[in-house]
Amino acid sequence: MGPPGAGKGTQAAVVSDSLDIPAISTGDIFRDNVEAGTALGEKAKRYMDAGEYVPDSLTNAMVGARLAERDARNGFLLDGYPRTVAQVEELDTMLSDLDSRLDAVILLEVDREELIARLLKRAQTEDRSDDTEDVIRRRQEVFDEQTAPLIEVYEGRDLLVRVDGVGAVDEVRARVVSALPRRAAGSR
Ligand code: AMP
Repeated sequence: MGPPGAGKGTQAAVVSDSLDIPAISTGDIFRDNVEAGTALGEKAKRYMDAGEYVPDSLTNAMVGARLAERDARNGFLLDGYPRTVAQVEELDTMLSDLDSRLDAVILLEVDREELIARLLKRAQTEDRSDDTEDVIRRRQEVFDEQTAPLIEVYEGRDLLVRVDGVGAVDEVRARVVSALPRRAAGSR
């Protein structure tokens, strides 16, 4: 978890590599669908371009299908999911059906000014259609309204691990991996 610009995607890639498990990034799956022109991509695009969340029903169905794939059997890292209370509930059901559970929820913490600076820089280098200044602001608001409440939910379940997200990619990766409980990182 983390606000837009905290480095979720970057860390998901390097941490999942370190743990040898797949990273499941809902943002990437949506972008792939937009690029491929699928029906899901078409539906998702207008929400993404406005900085809004794609409806839970679409997002949950997509994650459910992905978690059922073979490579997720020995573990997985979710990047950018769940993002709403309804998604937390749906994920609970999916995991219980799969006889699985979360080992930890990593919160990448980066202060707001640094986040905006990073996103504006990314806008110049990655050409994402949702990295314009207005949409960046809206995405921060949506995070505060819909996703920030999940911090307390996972804190209450004793799963939340706060990690300082400022630093070189490898420094942050090392912080994330060392902050994971033994049951997630120890056997690998
Ligand atoms: P990200 O790459 O994680 O920043 O996601 C990019 C965009 O994809 C978000 O701004 C949302 O429009 C959409 N998205 C990604 N994950 C979710 C999710 N869990 N729920 C709803 N929308 C999502």
